[in-house]
Amino acid sequence: MFDKKAYMKTYNKAHYQHQTKWRNKEQLRKYGVEYRKNHPPDLERWVIDAREYRRKHPERKYAQNLARYIPLKPSCEFGNCTSTEKLEHAHLDYDYPLEVVTFCAKHHRLVDRLYGRFD
Ligand SMILES: [Zn+2]
Repeated sequence: MFDKKAYMKTYNKAHYQHQTKWRNKEQLRKYGVEYRKNHPPDLERWVIDAREYRRKHPERKYAQNLARYIPLKPSCEFGNCTSTEKLEHAHLDYDYPLEVVTFCAKHHRLVDRLYGRFD
């Protein structure tokens, strides 16, 4: 007969172990360090990717270069986010290269994804 109690006990234990393993930030950081040690960055690939990006989206590169001369706002402008760390300029429309907003890195990625910019 199927022993539901024993099954649930095993299941809960495995589930708990999985949760604690992946919720531990310090542990996750260690995995990241280990991963980067085993997978060194491919600089050649990066250079090729950057070149490809420029060719594919010349208007983005142009807008990003211009944005460097615009001062950043003191904090993230996304919703009620008040982060003052890793602030970046974000373009909502590359047709208007001087119209930029200031987002923290997290919200910049989020907005870019919302706009369907994955590369
Ligand atoms: Zn933010």
